[in-house]
Amino acid sequence: MITFTGEALDRMAERRGDPAWVAEQARSPSARAVLAGDAGVHVTADDRLALVPLGHAGGEPLLLGVDDAGPVFAVDVDAPVDGRVPPLIAARGEGEPHAALGTRPIGLRLAAASLPHADGGLAAHAAALINWHRRHRFCAACGAPTAVGGGGILRSCARCGTQHHPRTDPVVIMLVTDGAERVLLGRQRSWPPGRYSALAGFVEPGESLEAAVAREVREEAGVEVGPPRYMASQPWPFPSSLMIAFVAPWESGEPRRIDDELDDLRWFSRADVAAALRGEPSPLATPPPFAIAARLLAGWLA
Ligand SMILES: [Zn+2]
Repeated sequence: MITFTGEALDRMAERRGDPAWVAEQARSPSARAVLAGDAGVHVTADDRLALVPLGHAGGEPLLLGVDDAGPVFAVDVDAPVDGRVPPLIAARGEGEPHAALGTRPIGLRLAAASLPHADGGLAAHAAALINWHRRHRFCAACGAPTAVGGGGILRSCARCGTQHHPRTDPVVIMLVTDGAERVLLGRQRSWPPGRYSALAGFVEPGESLEAAVAREVREEAGVEVGPPRYMASQPWPFPSSLMIAFVAPWESGEPRRIDDELDDLRWFSRADVAAALRGEPSPLATPPPFAIAARLLAGWLA
């Protein structure tokens, strides 16, 4: 199962346009809230995602959806202060426990590595939505303040009437393979020593996924690939991406570093990848198991 998927909510798109229905959900005694703030998403003492009664949460409720037990909201426990650029929800580290609620915030990477699968999906949904609300408090069309609409699924501008919808930024991530024997991986300067991963990049306006794969591989490694094969996708709330994973067959060109985006790139053998994934000595340190790149590598080996 892929980390950050697995949420089991009905998002209730067909009812969100009805403000009376949305208000009724927020008043429901069974309404619960996922909490997130500057330091991360809140977890319980036994390392589950915290779901607290909505009335205890404070802050503006953003409806995520409804499950068998009732409505589930996301609440930003550190709502942005006017005049300050709101930070994104932390990826790393841990925050101070919330005394009244008995929860504590953890960075999203720690959440990805430690939460049960369904909790991870809910955490990704809440974090991506809160990050979007934090960074879209003003209308991109006219500059006036915007307000939450549709129970949290949009923001609307009272001055010009524009409705703004949460964005998801598509990222292609591709394992370039030389048949069954070698994979082309790159590393960024900020990564731990030995860490290499699949090449990746944002899809640009007016571009198909296939074209984005070919362009990114050409730009980062100077090689040409054949038609990519879709493998899987993963919500990636850093802050609001969707990783779309492919395997792409190498066609021509010798890999070389083109610009400063990558610190290094090289072919790794099947044996290098197998040893790294088993935790044995290898020139390669693979990405963490919660990243879809690790799944791409494991899938290729299999
Ligand atoms: Zn406006």
